[in-house]
Amino acid sequence: MIQTQPNCADLSETGLIHFTAAKAKILSGIQVIAGHQCVPIEQARGRTLISAISAPIDVPAHSNSAVDGYALRSADLPMDGSSAGFAVAGSASAGNPFNRTISPGQCIRIMTGAALPAGCDTVIMQERVERSGDVILLDASHRKGQNVRQAGEDMRHGEIVLSSGRLLTPPDIGLCASLGIAELTVRRKLRIAIASTGDEIYDTGSIPCASGIYDSNRYSLLAALDRPDIEVIDLGILRDQPELLLDTFNGIADHADVIISSGGVSVGDADHIKTALQTSGNIDFWKVAIKPGRPMAFGNIGNAAFFGLPGNPVAVLVTFYLLVLPALEKMLSITDSPIAPMMKARALQAIRKRPGRTQVQRGILQCNEQREWTVKTTGKQGSGILRSMSLANAFIILPHHSASVREGDWVDVQPFAGLW
Ligand code: AMP
Ligand code: MG
Repeated sequence: MIQTQPNCADLSETGLIHFTAAKAKILSGIQVIAGHQCVPIEQARGRTLISAISAPIDVPAHSNSAVDGYALRSADLPMDGSSAGFAVAGSASAGNPFNRTISPGQCIRIMTGAALPAGCDTVIMQERVERSGDVILLDASHRKGQNVRQAGEDMRHGEIVLSSGRLLTPPDIGLCASLGIAELTVRRKLRIAIASTGDEIYDTGSIPCASGIYDSNRYSLLAALDRPDIEVIDLGILRDQPELLLDTFNGIADHADVIISSGGVSVGDADHIKTALQTSGNIDFWKVAIKPGRPMAFGNIGNAAFFGLPGNPVAVLVTFYLLVLPALEKMLSITDSPIAPMMKARALQAIRKRPGRTQVQRGILQCNEQREWTVKTTGKQGSGILRSMSLANAFIILPHHSASVREGDWVDVQPFAGLW
């Protein structure tokens, strides 16, 4: 009888590590990078704030009118059932305040954004008064304080308005500007070196030999890493030569915080990443119980964290988004990740699965007419079929112990929103 060896179809294989265990190990092996820089606010979107921002002033700085109308003293408002007349004693517009104090029975013509004149605490919309000459008449339907934006109602002097670790968004940048803040201290960019490996891999623009294929992984990763808080060092395509791989990774380890390679981490004769790296740094080779994405390496070379991703184009993206990106967010100390939370959706079709590994299908998430979330797969799910990922807007994540999904079952879905 032929003695076969454990393989990727064999779920009882030893050395297979659970997806959640792999994620936990990676996160516990990763530290926040040190170093920060001061940048103008117009360059701060997508960067991580180092220390919390407390408001140096009230916003708005002055109480002001929310509408075009008339400012007056609420003490002069008519009682129920009656009406009252007010003399228009002046005007105020945004940037052009009325600087005197009004007397009882007077009002000020006021425009949106104008500072409320001293003594006034209420604004009446112009459509709600009857004006004849320099007098307005109003009824008893008005309330003290209406149509006034109070000083400090957006942000109060001294209040913490952005917390440390915040990944800065467009409204955050506007908020800083409204506080008069022109520069922010943000974490330095994370330096990530990336490489594709394989004798068969050719760059776009070159002509592959008969058995060659174009490099897609490096371009998928370049695009996934194209963010304001990351600086990429492109190591290009590395041939399947142990010394070359080792020299290249050792050479870059002093300059990069992270090295990400794809290919060469399986058990084939040309899978040299393993041979190369077992002699350098601390690298563990894992068979993660995840489909796609099973072979993977994780560890460090010098001070750089090392991720050896599988070669298959879909496996690269699945392992990148589910295992590498959380680690990058930790290194950048991002506290409020923009990635949409996992949700449940109803499967529109049956999906075959065996218990014993986490299965990540590429799905199309949609809301049906009953406002219920539904999901279907993008079709063929082979780990080399990149279209399955390109057509998708969500991962369908079938957990380790689960078996096949029936049509109509609820499944876990990770929307791509916030991933890119
Ligand atoms: P490997 O793990 O190196 O054996 O690669 C697994 C599969 O992924 C093989 O079919 C490779 O040709 C393919 N592959 C590896 N690297 C890339 C790449 N950079 N772009 C596209 N396909 C790749
Ligand atoms: Mg290879």
